[in-house]
Amino acid sequence: MLHRKARPRRHRPPGPAAGERLMSTVFSKSVPGREGVWPEAPKTDPVDFIPQHLLREGDAGLPSLSELDVVRHFTALSRKNYGVDSNFYPLGSCTMKYNPKFTEEVAALPGFSRLHPLTPQLPGGGDMSAGCLEVMYETERCLCEITGMAAFTLHPMAGAHGELTGALMMAAYHADKGHKKTKIICPDSAHGTNPASAAIAGFEVVTIESKDGIIDPAALAAVIDDETAGVMMTVPNTLGLFERHLPEIVALCRKVDALLYYDGANLNAILGKLRVGDAGFDVVHINLHKTFATPHGGGGPGAGPVGVSERLIPYLPVSRVQKDEAGRFSLSYDHPKSIGYVAPFYGNFGVVLKAYAYILRLGREGLIRVSESAVLAANYLRARLAEAIEVPYNRICMHEFVASAAKLAAEKNVRALDIAKALLDKGYHAPTIYFPLIVKEALMFEPTETESKDTLDQFVADLLDILAQAETDPEAVRACPTTLPVGRLDETYAARAMEITDDL
Ligand SMILES: *Cc1c(COP(=O)(O)O)cnc(C)c1O
Repeated sequence: MLHRKARPRRHRPPGPAAGERLMSTVFSKSVPGREGVWPEAPKTDPVDFIPQHLLREGDAGLPSLSELDVVRHFTALSRKNYGVDSNFYPLGSCTMKYNPKFTEEVAALPGFSRLHPLTPQLPGGGDMSAGCLEVMYETERCLCEITGMAAFTLHPMAGAHGELTGALMMAAYHADKGHKKTKIICPDSAHGTNPASAAIAGFEVVTIESKDGIIDPAALAAVIDDETAGVMMTVPNTLGLFERHLPEIVALCRKVDALLYYDGANLNAILGKLRVGDAGFDVVHINLHKTFATPHGGGGPGAGPVGVSERLIPYLPVSRVQKDEAGRFSLSYDHPKSIGYVAPFYGNFGVVLKAYAYILRLGREGLIRVSESAVLAANYLRARLAEAIEVPYNRICMHEFVASAAKLAAEKNVRALDIAKALLDKGYHAPTIYFPLIVKEALMFEPTETESKDTLDQFVADLLDILAQAETDPEAVRACPTTLPVGRLDETYAARAMEITDDL
């Protein structure tokens, strides 16, 4: 199996060494002569049809195993996976919500999943993939309705990709208007992808300091000027706080024709409550994999559709889905001001499909309940935990909140990382740690809307246990995790030098 080699080991946890309980690879289990399947001998040997020079010379090198060996190997591996389907996953900023299984069933329908992306247009108009085009068209309309934007592209494959798409459209808009705009402003609470996307799109990034956890209009007024192309913000922000000065921020942007960008990663908190287009945003990305189903983690799959206000429509990427008067759907490419292609074909269509199914099934009332329940769950968790751990901005939060282990770190040398590792031993996924950067020893909790009060109570009890142990036996907390296949890894080394080894 994939094994991230732990080196150098800083803490040697008690219990088995990293790797001792790891499984060996399916290759190392091979027993010469053991067989799994007896395929029927083909009547004509397919090898006869393959040109000689393309044939392999040696053995395929596949392991010799029985079917049961293989099934057990992969079943055991799958059990080492952790997901929302296993237990509570309070990873802040990521909205690791439970995703109803019916969305998977819809995405797996053969009419969708087996369609080739190059399915042709019909002569005389219409398209053989009209059903998919209709799904895309209708999903765009749903997203317009939910956000108050004028149009959407579904192509970007993740939130960060949506940000880049948005920043490129902002650049195209200003270039078209003959503006000389060189910078984009981000608050210090921004997700790292915001300044990164702005920089990749060619802008200079100016960071402003937050005040009491939110954007300070005075700090913005001090730096915004005629060279400002846009301001990127997240609402609620990464501290789980609503940006109360939105109207002043919009006014400041309008004065210098700077575009206001909405990072929609936290949309789960305001679904059905605030339409960001109505509030004055010009560009919006939505992480479909956070707010509208699709289990994610480990880097994908995702989709980061981008919505724009009326004045940015000409710059949307191609292709665009359109519907003619006869109700036929097709793709259009003739948009001379478009920023062009941002993704092959039409983005991650399966993710779009799941989002569409999710939106239709929940409907307006269901989506409103999502945000209300998510906010309620976060506030419940915050109120219960605030008695045991510092919560720097301890006021009504939105869908997530940030605690700080700074005091424990100073007094007991138990850091946010140690608490996160101890939670693994209790059977949870860790919360987000050390983000946002403006809170020291940050632990960011996001329960989402689907957890029961029982689950939240159990989580609080387990976390209080860890915090109590940090006071009496800090060494034990620093030694966690002790129940997992691997202990503490040097993550930088592991990411740079991943090793696949049989030698476990
Ligand atoms: C997750 C996230 C992003 C990036 O989205 P990806 O889909 O992971 O690329 C951007 N901003 C915030 C606030 C996020 O939480």
